[in-house]
Amino acid sequence: MHRGGDIQLGADGCFSYRHLKSAGDGPISYDPSYFISKDKVDTVRARIMNARSKKPRPMKPSIPQETIDACEASWDAANEKKRKVDPKQHDASGVFVMTCRHSQVLFLCNIDMPGEQQQYIVACLEEVKDLIPLHAKIVQAYDVGCVTDHSLNLYPILSAGFRERVSFVINAMHSFGHQWVCQIVYSPRFYRGLCLTDAEGVERFWSRIRKLIGITRNQWVSNFTGPRVSFSDIVRTHAASG
Ligand SMILES: [Zn+2]
Repeated sequence: MHRGGDIQLGADGCFSYRHLKSAGDGPISYDPSYFISKDKVDTVRARIMNARSKKPRPMKPSIPQETIDACEASWDAANEKKRKVDPKQHDASGVFVMTCRHSQVLFLCNIDMPGEQQQYIVACLEEVKDLIPLHAKIVQAYDVGCVTDHSLNLYPILSAGFRERVSFVINAMHSFGHQWVCQIVYSPRFYRGLCLTDAEGVERFWSRIRKLIGITRNQWVSNFTGPRVSFSDIVRTHAASG
């Protein structure tokens, strides 16, 4: 495999973008183009649950199983506080974003289940798949890339042919929170073809749009995901005025 990939992507969830149920809703004038619809994300989730209910494929992990378990446990612990959103008060507990190599937004989706589950990264990857050349290879930076990589090997979640075109790395800064064995395999610093890329573009994006946290919390719910003045419009306006 050409290890640097043809396309390098970043992805991450941010739990500061909670949306208050009490903000209510209003009419939508057009379909959002940056936000993946809840229906699509829910369909991916159902597919993942179905795939995971079956017997896993006999795959040898690229790092020892106990390392993957330890990485997952420390990621869960680090994210536990961020996940504490009262579902009675909020109808979205966060926003998940996928960015290109240059930190520009490709897709977003609302996080409406507790925690950052696998359907968000899978839904974003599948959305990208339809837009890239048939044989283009992706290097996906994700802060729990090691666990996701192994899980996608065990279960037929991504379509055959596409799974082989997606490799995972862990963003350079985040990789320090992983086991040393994991870092050797998944840190971009040890990944042939990524050179000095730190793959932390998503964090720069969150930092740049942080002023939207308060504004979007009280938007109409459909404004949060799409219509005339959408979350993504505001994101682009703020990014452009940088
Ligand atoms: Zn790891």
